[in-house]
Amino acid sequence: MKRTVELAEASEVALPPSFAPLLIEWQRHSGRSGLPWQHTRDPYLVWLSEVMLQQTQVSSVLSYYPRFRARCPDVQALASASSDEVMALWSGLGYYSRARNLHRCAQVVVNEHGGVFPRTAEGLQALPGIGASTAAAIAAFCYGERISILDGNVRRVLSRLLAFEGDLAQQGPQRALWSMAQALLPEAPSLDDMTAYTQGLMDLGATVCVRSKPLCERCPVQSICRACASGQTTRFPIKTRRLVRRFENWWLLLVRDATDAAQPRFWLARRPPTGIWAGLYCPPVYADELSLTAALPAAMQARLEPLEPVAHSLTHRELRLHPLLLSVKAGQEPSLPPGQWVGASALADHGLPAPVRLLLQSMST
Ligand code: SF4
Repeated sequence: MKRTVELAEASEVALPPSFAPLLIEWQRHSGRSGLPWQHTRDPYLVWLSEVMLQQTQVSSVLSYYPRFRARCPDVQALASASSDEVMALWSGLGYYSRARNLHRCAQVVVNEHGGVFPRTAEGLQALPGIGASTAAAIAAFCYGERISILDGNVRRVLSRLLAFEGDLAQQGPQRALWSMAQALLPEAPSLDDMTAYTQGLMDLGATVCVRSKPLCERCPVQSICRACASGQTTRFPIKTRRLVRRFENWWLLLVRDATDAAQPRFWLARRPPTGIWAGLYCPPVYADELSLTAALPAAMQARLEPLEPVAHSLTHRELRLHPLLLSVKAGQEPSLPPGQWVGASALADHGLPAPVRLLLQSMST
């Protein structure tokens, strides 16, 4: 049967009807099948893995997922964990608003839904922090809902498959591509079909139709791919608005109490609830070196020891961290911004940004 989708920009776009069968067949024989978050219909576990995988490599999630799952095996356990525990479990995975939303959402599921996730993408999307694509993934994997995911990887695959000329920086073309994604779904799929199809979209984007050099010769839909046929694979997806990154310098006052050399302690302050590293523990931050030194008595300023600067990339910022180490003995601490001493052995129990954790660990030995 010929499939089409109507668009505002073009009266009708023909869609390849063989896409879904080819993808399902390929996923069953050649797709990924050994990831620890696969083969479950538990919406909590699917949700947890989907959130962890957002903008994060599978290789990073592989070590975090089992640890998080062991500590919080279900939505009740997550809802009742402290925010410090959740941030510590997430520490180093980045994009910390995901962890805060995850925690908040678990509490809403427990307090307002009796601990049971809604069974439709629409209901799931009404929960805090669950976007359209994550809701679709949970509904498709767990309940077999006929709905398409459309994260960044899938947008790339479909825009190449269809040689989609719309600018994905604009909402109109984004909606149009979503309509096409829906129209490409398998006809009357079983639960297993929806699992294989959804997983197939993910696998294709992650392992074959990759960003800079797609492996078209290994692609199950090469025969129907319009970008490949025209030799223009990397022209898609079209996105005119590029991310603008700001550069920022942060000066960190790294106060170490080495009274017990084998078990040093660090003075850490909680970051504000919004902004970069919100809610995580970090040495006091200053906008420049002058403000940092001015916060200390003159006798201590001379003892500051500059450490190697650390570069750290965030989505919209390039941070350059300048740690200045001040070693003190118990009873000699200067007056410090509000915070707490954290011993080297307790660092793992605190939510710390990845570069700060590395820095403190290197100071602990
Ligand atoms: Fe992507 Fe190439 Fe497959 Fe087209 S043929 S979907 S460009 S990997």
